[in-house]
Amino acid sequence: MYRDGARKSIWQEEIKRFPSESALGQLFDVAIVGGGITGISTAIKLQESGKRCIILEASNIGFGTTGGTTAHLNDFFDTTYSQAISDFGLENAKLFAGAGQEAISIIENNIRKYGIDCDFMRKKGYLFALDDKQQKELADIVDGAYKVGHEMLYTHEIPFPIPFKEAVMIPNQAQFHPVKYIRALCEAFQNAGGVIHEQCLCESHDEQKGFVQLNTTKGTVQAMHVVYATHIPPGISILHTMNAPYRSYAMAFSMKGEPQEKELGYDLCDPYRYYRFQEVDGQQLLIAGGEDHKTGHEEDTGECFSRLENYVREHFDVETVHYSWSSQYYEPSDGFPYIGKLPSSSGRIYVSTGFRGNGMILGTLTSQILNDLIVSGSSKYEHLFSPSRIKPVAGFTDFVKENAVVVFDFVKDKLFREKITSLAKINEGEAKVVTYEGESFALYKEKGGTVHLVKSTCPHALCEVRWNSAELSWDCPCHGSRFNVNGKVLTGPTVKDLQRIDPEEGSEI
Ligand SMILES: Cc1cc2nc3c(=O)[nH]c(=O)nc-3n(C[C@H](O)[C@H](O)[C@H](O)COP(=O)(O)OP(=O)(O)OC[C@H]3O[C@@H](n4cnc5c(N)ncnc54)[C@H](O)[C@@H]3O)c2cc1C
Repeated sequence: MYRDGARKSIWQEEIKRFPSESALGQLFDVAIVGGGITGISTAIKLQESGKRCIILEASNIGFGTTGGTTAHLNDFFDTTYSQAISDFGLENAKLFAGAGQEAISIIENNIRKYGIDCDFMRKKGYLFALDDKQQKELADIVDGAYKVGHEMLYTHEIPFPIPFKEAVMIPNQAQFHPVKYIRALCEAFQNAGGVIHEQCLCESHDEQKGFVQLNTTKGTVQAMHVVYATHIPPGISILHTMNAPYRSYAMAFSMKGEPQEKELGYDLCDPYRYYRFQEVDGQQLLIAGGEDHKTGHEEDTGECFSRLENYVREHFDVETVHYSWSSQYYEPSDGFPYIGKLPSSSGRIYVSTGFRGNGMILGTLTSQILNDLIVSGSSKYEHLFSPSRIKPVAGFTDFVKENAVVVFDFVKDKLFREKITSLAKINEGEAKVVTYEGESFALYKEKGGTVHLVKSTCPHALCEVRWNSAELSWDCPCHGSRFNVNGKVLTGPTVKDLQRIDPEEGSEI
């Protein structure tokens, strides 16, 4: 398995393994946990700065969201500049506005420096309103962009066959192949003396005097500084109250005719749909994404693909669906990412999360911010993105809303489970959570009849998992931990598998 789901993403063919013989038991300057774009970009930057670094990855490089992204490189964000101005003030919004081009420049510099072939291309972005409500939102977005000095130009045409009311063109955006990019960065990192350990799950850390000890499935690692590039660090963390996990869906289609212009596009629906093109084996594929929902909150995740496909077929001249996959991102409670020191740590542990749908940019920017913090002790983004910042009042509404959902789910789920009494009612290809002799189990029956049975309580915070039919996984609606049908961890923050049950014997294995 190369990524955290049963479906193959468009990028996955390019994932390469990085076997390592190096010993763990040494003192490193920085241990980076997580082998996605955030961890790898940060590791190479720190290694370039003369720090001796190790990357610890639970599965393989590109296993997480970086292997399931769509890799638009934007300098406008899911948090609009109008929202940023009203919640954080004009000066902070201007600082935020510079982050996009800074991150794209970091990527371009890495590509030049290491001669990386990753299909990087500058593109135009088109934001388009489909109805009156969206037209008003677009006007607000343009107004905010104008105030922070960001270029958005009204246009009468968009290069997508979708009827629209109003649209803007945003110059100087970009796209690339995320896995080709991180794979080459890993090679450069190793050439510069960096160490990579795959299949190395970091379970916990102990802060010691002068260093941090990481406890991993391969043994202990000691480092002067630790960077968690894992979305949320393993275990129970304050960051759970500040971030909510969401799923988004993507599909890649071949078209009957060759598209004339292959730019980036976004409507303003809630959730919004996003479009770009990618060449695979000489063929241009349209990648469309959308249908986002909170993890564990969609009854039938397969329906998300049907809705997306139907919409695309309605507007584009589709030939074939080549890929369909989904992946996970994190919504911060106040619209800005959390990049910096882990709250309540002694100052040697760093986190980077809450990227919304802009993690290619914010994960890349993390490399500069954490390099500046670790090497020179300060960063211009330090206060803006501080994980310890006091949230503005506007963000508080979302914060309460997300937490309220978590509590509600837990209660609702228990009642729901009581109604399910029999293991016998399950058909092939189906999954259910059932109660049996007072305990609750998550059950999946493969085509052919093999049954996979696990205890349905997520070991992280004891919430009940829910079935994700699109990726054949058990997803926790509380904090986004995910497990395969045998209970093995796919996505943290849990570091423990679901307890597996042998359905024949009734005994735990
Ligand atoms: C469908 C979709 C489309 C998107 N499109 C865009 C886009 O167009 N543009 C954009 O900017 N952003 C986009 N995003 C967001 C972006 O892809 C992510 O924010 C970004 O990939 C996150 O990268 P990361 O390195 O932080 O995390 P990941 O890529 O998830 O990497 C984290 C890694 O940490 C490992 N790990 C976790 N826990 C542990 C542990 N305890 N020990 C060791 N290893 C561990 C995991 O196995 C994983 O490999 C999209 C997101 C989704 C879901």
